[in-house]
Amino acid sequence: MVDKNKMPIVLVGNYSSKYEIESICKLFFNTARFRFSSDVNDAQGESYILASTAVESEILLTAEIRLDGDTPERQIKTMSVKTKKDDIELELCRLVYHILCRKTGIRPPWGLMTGIRPVKKVKDLVCRGLDRESVGNYFRDKYEVSEEKFSIAYRTALNQIPILENLDGNSVSLYISIPFCPSRCSYCSFVSHSVTMKSAVKLIPEYVSALCRELEITGELVSENGLKVETVYFGGGTPVAISAEQIKILMECVEKIFDLTNLKEYDFEAGRPDAFTEEKLRVVKNFGVTRISVNPQTLNNEVLKTIGRHHTAEDTLKAFELARKVGFKNINMDLIAGLPNDTAESFGSTLEKILTLSPESITVHTLTLKRSSELFQTGSTGNPASEMVGYSIGRLIDSGYEPYYMYCQKNTVENLENIGYAKKGCESLYNIFIMDEIQTIIGAGCGASTKMVFPDGMIRRFHNHKYPYEYITRFDELMQRKEEISECLKKINSMRLK
Ligand code: SF4
Repeated sequence: MVDKNKMPIVLVGNYSSKYEIESICKLFFNTARFRFSSDVNDAQGESYILASTAVESEILLTAEIRLDGDTPERQIKTMSVKTKKDDIELELCRLVYHILCRKTGIRPPWGLMTGIRPVKKVKDLVCRGLDRESVGNYFRDKYEVSEEKFSIAYRTALNQIPILENLDGNSVSLYISIPFCPSRCSYCSFVSHSVTMKSAVKLIPEYVSALCRELEITGELVSENGLKVETVYFGGGTPVAISAEQIKILMECVEKIFDLTNLKEYDFEAGRPDAFTEEKLRVVKNFGVTRISVNPQTLNNEVLKTIGRHHTAEDTLKAFELARKVGFKNINMDLIAGLPNDTAESFGSTLEKILTLSPESITVHTLTLKRSSELFQTGSTGNPASEMVGYSIGRLIDSGYEPYYMYCQKNTVENLENIGYAKKGCESLYNIFIMDEIQTIIGAGCGASTKMVFPDGMIRRFHNHKYPYEYITRFDELMQRKEEISECLKKINSMRLK
């Protein structure tokens, strides 16, 4: 068995990009941490990956891989010195990719497409006038994406295009982070604090007031720059993990500070059913929230226990009923494929039960194993995630749900994707904006980031402090960054007006 944590990746030459080659290797060894070297002498021993380029009259690309003492395989390719850097890097990745496919027997469904947003790419090509066949050829020939994955990316892109036709270039969205949860899930890599810890509960009031202060400053930036707020999204964490009174304080703050007359969507990712109460939902409803999420992840009680969730499938059904009773007409439910101890049958049964509830949207995530999660530390992996995801695609489309946003993440089990499906007219604009980087999103709260989208497509990101304590105690320092955000907003405005 290859000890990937010690396996050297030896990169030699100017076109051997560490980031790109590592991304390719992670497709095959997804929780690995490699040792990088530029010394060709490290390409020996039982296991190693060598990717090198040398420039002579042509550019010579070489990949050589040995795993667990097997016979090393070497692939060589030459390219013209006039070839663009990106193309050379991609070809070197392809050599590594092909050897790893053969040696591991793994065929990543998204091929060499790492670090690229597939739906964004499809839209880009469609907007340049390419038809379905040509876009498909591009995905297959350049990135070796499977036909199944291309089809879903294409369908998602076509569903998005009309939704985005009326996008107002003068609008932004607002993200508000509530980094608290009823308990910590074993797969969680987010900064969320469990409210079972007294120290976390003590922080909440101070956190709420710091967040209100940040919202005030953000509100000034928005009005100074004449921007309209198009969507507001309360996310987490589990926003219902805080009290009804604390939710009310924050929502009053949003209402007072921002002009919401142009608001198209107000999202509240309520989250885990174990923190739902009628009082909290009524507060949220009274402030005009249009869409909430009830997130079961699975309706298998054994799996829920395994992942550290302190609620049952029955709690989810009750939370959903409660949300309907309070009057929510647009409810999303999140599921995760590949959870430990789950099976294809149990995942299918969860999906069937969710379909009987008929939520307006269903998001199917695939489990990711990030370094900061407990599950990563124990080394547990998911079950047949690709079978689950494949089933969900067909079943949801047959049931009248259309894919409308999608994203791929690193360290996802079997290199699968996350897809949001919705009934027509119930799509979340915010999800499209954030995943496809279409609109500036201003983040407030700890762990939140602000993503500034310039008219020429450039993106600039600003990250808030990660942890609540840090966010509260270093608040003033954080607010200095608002100056930079303000400068960016002015620049975006001036570029737009030209
Ligand atoms: S509900 Fe989400 S944010 Fe909270 S602990 Fe679980 S995975 Fe993390």
